[in-house]
Amino acid sequence: MTVLARSIAQLRSAVASLEGSVGLVPTMGALHDGHGQLISKAAAENTSVVVSIFVNPLQFTDLGDCADFRDYPRDLRADLDRVERLGVDVVFAPSEEEMYPGGVPQVWVRAGEMGERLEGAARPGHFDGVTTVVAKLFQLIQPDRAYFGEKDAQQLAIIQRMVADLNFPLAIRPVPIIRGKDGLAESSRNQHLTPEAREQALVLPHTLAALRERAAAGRPLELESARAQLRGAPGVELDHLEIVDAATLLPVDEVGAGALAVAAIHVGGTRLIDNARLLPPLS
Ligand code: AMP
Repeated sequence: MTVLARSIAQLRSAVASLEGSVGLVPTMGALHDGHGQLISKAAAENTSVVVSIFVNPLQFTDLGDCADFRDYPRDLRADLDRVERLGVDVVFAPSEEEMYPGGVPQVWVRAGEMGERLEGAARPGHFDGVTTVVAKLFQLIQPDRAYFGEKDAQQLAIIQRMVADLNFPLAIRPVPIIRGKDGLAESSRNQHLTPEAREQALVLPHTLAALRERAAAGRPLELESARAQLRGAPGVELDHLEIVDAATLLPVDEVGAGALAVAAIHVGGTRLIDNARLLPPLS
């Protein structure tokens, strides 16, 4: 039985009764197979699993006063069915009032320069909202491990850095990107795509896969022509395509072990992000 906690008091009492190690999976709901993979990994590595479902206004434009926040897919009933099937112990689904009783908080955790590049350049303040809410969740739940998708590579790098810089006593566990059969990375925002827009969006994973193939073959990346391919694709607007170091998010000139191709596009009014490791990590 999954316990649903709507308040912080309910969460604290549910967490207090958990035994053994605790894995946390923070989400914004509208759960899909990508979230499912994080939950399965958390269940495999911990005695208990807590999933949070909270569409955090702080990480949206104008602190949530925007269409992206208002239109963000929400379906708690379907989410609860899914987590129940996955054997999740506790779901924390608070209201905004519960998380931020005084409105916008006074004290934030700032993501710093790592949060100002790439996604952060397009969405100013986004990562400060992410670090602030994730720090609150870590405080409230005190998990042994927390699970983040490589789909949001910049978020993962910033959270890893936050845990190191602020000495949070937990391990961050990355989870590889889960894709649909057509290759598009699973995302709650995919619900906004018409079949035609979804088809058009496939140029994103295709372009990243081509970069990966060129890197694996030791050929020049031809980044400019990859950008031109995205810019010229029907229905697509390119935000960025960069090669960065996965841990620092700084641009890299050479394709080494940590090199990551990261990209964001707009298709049919929806912003989509994706990324690909250019070489398999050294083991
Ligand atoms: P979200 O609900 O979109 O905030 O995502 C919650 C967590 O699920 C984040 O750590 C995401 O990186 C992760 N996630 C979302 N989509 C995917 C995916 N397609 N594959 C792997 N992880 C994902």
